[in-house]
Amino acid sequence: MKKILVTGGAGFIGSHLCERLLNEGNEVICVDNFFTGAKSNVVHLLDNPYFELIRHDITMPFYVEADEIYNLACPASPVHYQFNPIKTIKTSVMGAVNMLGLAKRIKAKILQASTSEVYGDPDVHPQTESYWGNVNPIGSRSCYDEGKRCAESLFINYHKQNNVKIKIVRIFNTYGPRMLPNDGRVISNFIVQALQNKPITIYGDGKQTRSFQYVDDLIEALIRMMNTDNKIIGPVNIGNPEEFNMLELADKIISLTDSKSKIEYQELPEDDPIQRKPDISLAKELLNNWEPKTNLTQGLVKTIDYFKKVL
Ligand code: NAD
Ligand code: UDP
Repeated sequence: MKKILVTGGAGFIGSHLCERLLNEGNEVICVDNFFTGAKSNVVHLLDNPYFELIRHDITMPFYVEADEIYNLACPASPVHYQFNPIKTIKTSVMGAVNMLGLAKRIKAKILQASTSEVYGDPDVHPQTESYWGNVNPIGSRSCYDEGKRCAESLFINYHKQNNVKIKIVRIFNTYGPRMLPNDGRVISNFIVQALQNKPITIYGDGKQTRSFQYVDDLIEALIRMMNTDNKIIGPVNIGNPEEFNMLELADKIISLTDSKSKIEYQELPEDDPIQRKPDISLAKELLNNWEPKTNLTQGLVKTIDYFKKVL
């Protein structure tokens, strides 16, 4: 039995990870400040004596014994990470310093949930790990993008300078049950709007693309990455390469929900990336032929079922 710390464990992805790690017989310590997470995401785990839920903000030091750390704490939706940009930077940067310091002291392996946002508005398509990205350092997304880029730098330097065992994954747009109805990201917005027969809000002309990964596929990759040989540190892209534009996504969701919603065009937010699609050859090679198993329609059906219950 391993003792595993999950920061941001009460969030969307973190709650699925905690559940899976417990099911595999591990002891899990879930740390969260509940900014965008919720106790309801992990309430079903609270009866398990091997699960511990701790309210803590990772911008402050945290001391615990653990074999592995998954560092997921950070708001991920543009609406939430731009709510208090300075706090977002502190969470990414000071949070990384605190968790890396902890990993160094207790000799734990630590995995960083980085993001496709480190590629910014990419002019290389699809994005490979060797691409350095195109990020506006002073734009409204920079608190998140640059925070995550700085965290990657901290990880690599703690590895080089202090031999900390690190893993960096760059996660592409992920969706599924337990996203908040007011999360603000596109899939939850469109599903909630469609189920309520309200206008579907397309930002810009809707031709911008994203590649959407169902949460179970991501969790599988995170665990495989953590279990790779210590030599493998990443960064490794984790995503589903099927690419869609927002109009196609809206059509799909309207038809799967049998909705009467109409499209409403709204202003495109500043620096919204035009295209995004992962090259996942490295993940396939390093993670035992890992590849996403759930296509967009299958994943949307499950996510729509969830939102029907929540709303
Ligand atoms: P989320 O907002 O649902 O989860 C983030 C969790 O971190 C929440 O529970 C929140 O309360 C907690 N948190 C935030 N700041 C904290 C702090 N200072 N101290 C302690 N806890 C804090 O988002 P998510 O989609 O589950 O994302 C999880 C991680 O994965 C994030 O690091 C995010 O950047 C990364 N990621 C997600 C996606 C995606 O598409 N979902 C894509 C790329 C990267
Ligand atoms: N988007 C949209 N309508 C919404 C929410 C988002 O058209 O109600 C667009 C947004 O402009 C972006 C894409 O959907 O081009 C994905 O946005 P999201 O916030 O989900 O993720 P990110 O931009 O961080 O990839």
